[in-house]
Amino acid sequence: MKTIVIATKNKGKIREMTQAFEGLPVKLVPLSEFGELPDAVEDGTTFEENAKIKALYYRKETDTACLADDSGLEVEALSGAPGVYSARFAGEHADDDANNQKLLDEIAKKGLDASPAAYRCVLAFADTDGSVLTAAGSCEGVIRPESRGNGGFGYDPYFYIEGNKTMAELTLSEKDAISHRGKALREMAIKLSAYLRSKK
Ligand code: IMP
Repeated sequence: MKTIVIATKNKGKIREMTQAFEGLPVKLVPLSEFGELPDAVEDGTTFEENAKIKALYYRKETDTACLADDSGLEVEALSGAPGVYSARFAGEHADDDANNQKLLDEIAKKGLDASPAAYRCVLAFADTDGSVLTAAGSCEGVIRPESRGNGGFGYDPYFYIEGNKTMAELTLSEKDAISHRGKALREMAIKLSAYLRSKK
């Protein structure tokens, strides 16, 4: 059984990861089991760089194999913004409402009221021997100014998927089936399974 620390304090992500890796010979432990650790400095310019920065940093801090993720929204009309700045688009401690308002304002400034967009997620696994695995997933949609639904988080109420529904109108399992994170997790589960078998 391989012990892997999950580099997030987000309970929803811990639950999703635990579910995705069910059946693998791994024991997932939350970062909180290692006490208070300084946050990793996420200064990469891509989701992959930031996911690797976090996985390598917490692997070193905990001396345990580590799985980290980085995700965000890329909007076509904004040349890919907010991208790696999705969580802090409207400022360092901005909440979802402020980020969503800024997103709609920036699209409106381009003379548009909607734009194609994609959620992206990259997962990075860093083993204690220096091995690194990555997996990516994306989910295409359209940002529109009418908010719909109470589920999900972040930009979900404005992120329209096929069928004129937003991501915030899906159940957890419906979102997981099509989401960037769900896809990246399923790819990582396959890669991790092969990796662990190769190490036996
Ligand atoms: P992080 O990967 O937890 O740092 O997330 C970065 C940011 O991207 C979040 O704070 C949200 O603003 C946005 N984001 C990532 N995934 C989603 C999603 O599934 N729905 C809505 N927003 C998301």
